[in-house]
Amino acid sequence: MCGIFAVSSAKDNIIDDLFLGTFYLQHRGQQYCGLSTYAGEGLKIRTHRGLVRAAFTDDLAGLDGRLGIGHTSLKDRQPLKLDSKMGEFTICFEGNIINLAELTAELKKQGHSFYTDADIEVIAKLIAQSDDFVSGIEYMAAKVRGAYALVILAKGKIYAARDKHAFRPMVIGKKDGSVAVTSESCSFVNLGYQIVRDFKPGEIIEISDGEFTTKKIVPSDLIQYCAFEWVYTANVASTIDGMSVDIARRSIGACLARRYPAKVDIAAAVPNSGIGHAIGYAQEAKIPFDNVFIKYDYASRSYTQPTQAERDREAKVKLIPVPAKIAGRSVVICDDSIVRGTQMKNDLVVKLRNNGVREIHVRVACPPLKAPCLYGVATRSKKELAAHEKSVEDIRKYIGVDGLAYATLEDLEKSIGKPLEQLCTSCWTDVYKV
Ligand code: SF4
Repeated sequence: MCGIFAVSSAKDNIIDDLFLGTFYLQHRGQQYCGLSTYAGEGLKIRTHRGLVRAAFTDDLAGLDGRLGIGHTSLKDRQPLKLDSKMGEFTICFEGNIINLAELTAELKKQGHSFYTDADIEVIAKLIAQSDDFVSGIEYMAAKVRGAYALVILAKGKIYAARDKHAFRPMVIGKKDGSVAVTSESCSFVNLGYQIVRDFKPGEIIEISDGEFTTKKIVPSDLIQYCAFEWVYTANVASTIDGMSVDIARRSIGACLARRYPAKVDIAAAVPNSGIGHAIGYAQEAKIPFDNVFIKYDYASRSYTQPTQAERDREAKVKLIPVPAKIAGRSVVICDDSIVRGTQMKNDLVVKLRNNGVREIHVRVACPPLKAPCLYGVATRSKKELAAHEKSVEDIRKYIGVDGLAYATLEDLEKSIGKPLEQLCTSCWTDVYKV
């Protein structure tokens, strides 16, 4: 998972907006971050390991400019800089290229060498084969199987694109004299940008001097918005393809309350992403919402850690039970998803039982996860997924709770407000359409 941000201003230095716009995408990747700017005398680029604010607060000197791109990443350092017949450019990307090995082999045959095994290098080299960036992105789009959103910074211009199936989100915003594009609109709110619209599937835009123009739409009959964005990945303040993440989560919670009611005292969440689902559940069931767990502000997001050991460690430290809210109560706990079930079993359930909970009923905001994501979200291999081999009842017994139920694909369709055939649901169905 990654976050990408780009901004162009007709008159102002963009460095503050670039820094903060990228910072507000921190939840999409916490291992690396990077910024690149253009101020008329060449492209500047700087990348760091770690979080945007920690890495860049004292390291923005010399990055002033009127155009810039930024990246947060789970996996690799971006932006990447390349020299080409179109001149130098920097590029960052979110997604996953399924036919990466095949494309790498093809490029090697043509005489290209590679410094990394990252998708971004293949994407950059495919784009660099053309005489202009729009044709280059079009050429890349025709060769690549998978999902992407990307931004390119060249001298005086930014190019931004979303893949033709629209897997990864990408939105355009505007404020006085500036245009920005971002993975999620939560980047815009505190910076004063108004959402103009989401990228259309396959859209390639050019941005300069605080204005944008659509240069091309790569056509496709198949739209596949990632349904997991609304369930878990995106920030609750974001609106993706016209649907508020918060509203979608509350609706999923309400669907769970109608479909699987439980006689309990309160509804609670596995914070943070379970909060919207739990509030929706509580409102529909007409029971109080309460915090039985607090996510410690200084902990990271466990799902976006690079190794299983780090994910386990972060999952264990991030949630602090609130004893006064637990003792003697029966609880519905809403979680965004269950991956292996080990965190629920070894951490949450233990903490609740140790603090005197009476009954635990778990409601999960999506169907059982059965297959890995091939389109850029850090899900697990099949054998790591609890639901790959276990039934819901087996998972309930394994995690040791009194009740367990999952949302259905129909609940997601209703809550996200898009036809099921336009939603990617591969991680629940094990059917891959791309
Ligand atoms: S497989 Fe799941 S996580 Fe991946 S794009 Fe599809 S819905 Fe999203």
